[in-house]
Amino acid sequence: MLISQILRAKGDAVFTVAPTNTVGRVAELLHSKRIGALVVTEGDRVVGIVSERDIVRAVAGGDGKVTSRPVSAYMTADVVFAEPGETLDSLLSRMTDRRFRHLPVVQAGRLVGIVSIGDLVKWKISEVEAEAHGLKAYIAGS
Ligand code: AMP
Repeated sequence: MLISQILRAKGDAVFTVAPTNTVGRVAELLHSKRIGALVVTEGDRVVGIVSERDIVRAVAGGDGKVTSRPVSAYMTADVVFAEPGETLDSLLSRMTDRRFRHLPVVQAGRLVGIVSIGDLVKWKISEVEAEAHGLKAYIAGS
């Protein structure tokens, strides 16, 4: 299973914010869009990623003014990406090894989607179920 197949089914929408947007705005967007992370962009350029964990860390270690500070102070600037031609299994390994749950997908330097651990687990379960179904059918037929 390739990431391009998953993106075709789930769509290529990626919610983004500018680095100057406040932490409060990021929290509002995460809540209203029902997502766990936003890609931080400046024009077409990805400059970071901010997840709900970053917001929790900012609030827990903050001084009460955190929500009015720019997200650039709390995002991860060193973004790890995926590519559409990669496999579901390789992304699951990358997420597990690096301990994060979101991977923006880029092609030729352009943002073409994002996948979460939830998306990947859903597709992995479908894949395993289809394999089990095929094996059962094969055994029943032989
Ligand atoms: P998550 O598990 O995705 O909520 O993120 C946990 C931490 O990893 C947060 O500090 C995120 O900013 C960071 N993070 C999430 N996804 C990525 C990614 N693709 N590349 C780099 N850092 C990430």
